[in-house]
Amino acid sequence: QGREGEGFRSGFVAVVGRPNVGKSTLVNRLVGQKISIISPRPQTTRSPIRGVRNGPGYQVVFVDTPGSQKPRDTLRARMQERVLDSLAESDVVLCVLDASQAREGIGRGDRFVVELVARSKTPAIAAINKVDLLPRRDDALPIVDEVRKLADWEDVFLISATAGTNVEPLMEAVVRLLPPGPRYFPEGVVTDYPETLILAEYIREKALEVLREEVPHAVAVEIDEVERKGDLTVIYAIIHVERPSQRMIVLGKGGRTIKRIGTEARRDVERLLGTRIYLDLKVKVTPGWRSNRGFLERLGL
Ligand code: GDP
Ligand code: MG
Repeated sequence: QGREGEGFRSGFVAVVGRPNVGKSTLVNRLVGQKISIISPRPQTTRSPIRGVRNGPGYQVVFVDTPGSQKPRDTLRARMQERVLDSLAESDVVLCVLDASQAREGIGRGDRFVVELVARSKTPAIAAINKVDLLPRRDDALPIVDEVRKLADWEDVFLISATAGTNVEPLMEAVVRLLPPGPRYFPEGVVTDYPETLILAEYIREKALEVLREEVPHAVAVEIDEVERKGDLTVIYAIIHVERPSQRMIVLGKGGRTIKRIGTEARRDVERLLGTRIYLDLKVKVTPGWRSNRGFLERLGL
């Protein structure tokens, strides 16, 4: 049982959806206590975060992508192309939608994501999340109908990632779609320094959410220093932006926004890895960092 060999199935499952629909919460829930390794692709920030779940006869690697949005400039369009590539390279796509936002029907942002999923021609499951927020269970039915019509889904589930509702049936549907394959990650191995890289990705994602209308990809996150103090990890991180105006947005009134970014990113990583982190977060204006070779090398970009 659970041995690699005859009949073993495995695959990469891309988790996509607009920001805030609950992708990361769902991945955490799906991976749950059975985390054997959480590892961002080495040496690349901006890489999606992976979570591995091992079960009897299978291994699923969930790839939690940063939120997908309609591209409004070349850089974003290129990032979107990368999302599309990663969808095409995946074995299954899990498309997360937010039921609580869908009262007036599925929005344009969702349609855009679904279009990407459809174009990838990868087997896809729709997970309509946050059903716990609907006043009545029946409220979900028109949403399900609408989602069904949007694409050729293998399955459509109503779930709550926070409450865990329907998450295991969803997991079983994912496993059914896995092709035969190897164990990509060894069982029980934990990488050396994953939380700093994962934390950097979370910080970047949260900062992008704050900035999304203004400056989509002007953000780089640098982990400046890491100190271990018993079971507490102290991390000094810097958010680099390109202009003073962007710094103001990231800071927010009285530093409220950056405080929120830090708190949410830290909470996410602690939830994911079960470690305690103290995060010291600063914003710095670094003009032209995107064409600064030394800077990019330092950040492993
Ligand atoms: P992501 O941007 O798609 O990765 O979304 P997150 O996983 O960060 O979740 C965004 C917010 O939605 C967080 O505050 C979550 O706690 C919340 N959330 C996620 N799933 C659910 C759910 O099933 N029910 C409720 N009520 N909230 C949820
Ligand atoms: Mg997320």
